[in-house]
Amino acid sequence: MNDAIITASALVKEYGRGAARVEALRGIDLQIPRGSFTCIVGPSGHGKSTLMHLLGGLDHPTGGTVTVDGEEIFRFGNRRLAALRARKIGFVFQFFNLLQSLSAAENVEAALMLAGAPEARQKERAAELLATVGLAEKAGARPGQLSGGQQQRVAIARALANDPPLLLMDEPTGNLDSAAEAEVMEVLEGLNRQGKTIILVTHSAEIAARATHLVRVRDGRIEDPPPLQMAS
Ligand code: ADP
Repeated sequence: MNDAIITASALVKEYGRGAARVEALRGIDLQIPRGSFTCIVGPSGHGKSTLMHLLGGLDHPTGGTVTVDGEEIFRFGNRRLAALRARKIGFVFQFFNLLQSLSAAENVEAALMLAGAPEARQKERAAELLATVGLAEKAGARPGQLSGGQQQRVAIARALANDPPLLLMDEPTGNLDSAAEAEVMEVLEGLNRQGKTIILVTHSAEIAARATHLVRVRDGRIEDPPPLQMAS
């Protein structure tokens, strides 16, 4: 049985044209195991974010395919792709992008409303999701009254609105101090234990050390792990 939740084949992404052309991805083949905590690592500017965006169907490749949960996503038109994204994937980015005038609960409720949750369920479900990220007592606080780690946990609760099997994150702790990073990682590891597949782009060696799987990107390609040194 193939237990990959995402498969990418011969994935190529070019930006720009002519002299300005950049080959951000030069032929990526990979499989993300279902239930894994996969970190995408590598030097800055080598294609990690581009890869994450394509795996999540946020951008179109120049060539190649991506299959998410058995569906080849770039065969779809934009509407169907957006619907698949909404069902299957929660996104979390470095900057939390919360609505500042809304409380934590209302930020999550807004996502539930967009997801089409029945109105009567929205409040209850938002409260459950905030409890999942350890913020039950902060439901009424606005983002400005929350720490960075707490704001990112609200963003994670919001990403869970549709109960997607997959969470894709681009440097979710890139803007946080180490205590807040630990707080967010604890929440993510809890979600992973509950069965969510997590794919996270990171520069942090500490975070990468906690991954179950690593994808190393260099010069737009997957880099094999360094060969083991033979003991002399
Ligand atoms: P990383 O996430 O590893 O820092 P990126 O995927 O952001 O790398 O970028 C890979 C390459 O693609 C870089 O050379 C970057 O400048 C280029 N790139 C990324 N996004 C765009 C864009 N929208 N337009 C043009 N070039 C881009």
